[in-house]
Amino acid sequence: MKNFRMRPRLIALLALIIGFFTLSWGIVGHERINKAAVMALPKQVQVFFYNHIDFITQEASVPDIRKYALNYKDENARHYFDMENFGPADAFPQTLEEAKQKYDAKFLNDNGILPWYIEDMMAKLTKAFKDKNRAEILFLAADLGHYIGDAHMPLHTSANHDGQLSDQKGIHSLWESRLPELYAKNYKLNVPEAQYYEDVHKAVWAMINDTHSLVKPLLDIDKKLRTSTPEDGVFKKDAEGKILKTKYNTAVFSEEYAEKLHKDLNGMVESQMRKAIAATASFWYTAWVNAGKPDLSTLDAPAVTQRNYPALQEDLKLYQKGDLFGMKNQND
Ligand SMILES: [Zn+2]
Repeated sequence: MKNFRMRPRLIALLALIIGFFTLSWGIVGHERINKAAVMALPKQVQVFFYNHIDFITQEASVPDIRKYALNYKDENARHYFDMENFGPADAFPQTLEEAKQKYDAKFLNDNGILPWYIEDMMAKLTKAFKDKNRAEILFLAADLGHYIGDAHMPLHTSANHDGQLSDQKGIHSLWESRLPELYAKNYKLNVPEAQYYEDVHKAVWAMINDTHSLVKPLLDIDKKLRTSTPEDGVFKKDAEGKILKTKYNTAVFSEEYAEKLHKDLNGMVESQMRKAIAATASFWYTAWVNAGKPDLSTLDAPAVTQRNYPALQEDLKLYQKGDLFGMKNQND
């Protein structure tokens, strides 16, 4: 795992290079989820996380960088769970070990391991808190935030992950990257304080099932809008009237279509982002409680915490107004 730690500048560079790929939640989404989650933590955990908020924020996209830029083959399956292909819910394997016994490596690579991987990450994060291992806590927490973010994107829980089975290709990145890029600046991303999950396993599956329940509404809304919009209103055209394609050969949706879809989705993207923030903070908090609530104040020099204190108060005020990423903080 250590080999995949990267310095912030390298992360920023790689993020820029792969910014054109279809990233889950895009960089905008993942970074906002992790950053806002720090603000939703209770004090005893928040002060430590805030000391490292830049790392937590930038690291949010690293699992996708491992997947695309570094071509790390084990990474792929961690980001999704094609629920329909696993049969009836009561027969789902309960752990990654069980899943590996029941299915071969190719099947799991094709259909994903997201829920089990989140649970494994929770066990590792809990251990890192117990050991008071500063670097491990930060690295695991930031990565976990990424996978929890993915677990709130409906199409990451479906075999129809890009609408390819229902003639709706392109919907994946439109929903998770383009719409947040266009509209996240208006989202209110202040959520209630993190809650403790009595049962991590149950909490993971409740989250996955809740997200999956949105697959049909999402695809239905897009289908209805595509059918009622003349084709030249759905996609962007060049000067000669040809549909614009990205370099990955997917059609580019028009601004008008993106706007209409966002309106018809009636807050779904914002609501999923808010849920992802609340869940990320809650899983972090739960790992800390389950580790026996270790005192984190000894992990950083008191001077560092003191120096960051005024900025934390300032960011908390913005956050509580739902403006952590708003007009006053455009560069975030
Ligand atoms: Zn991802």
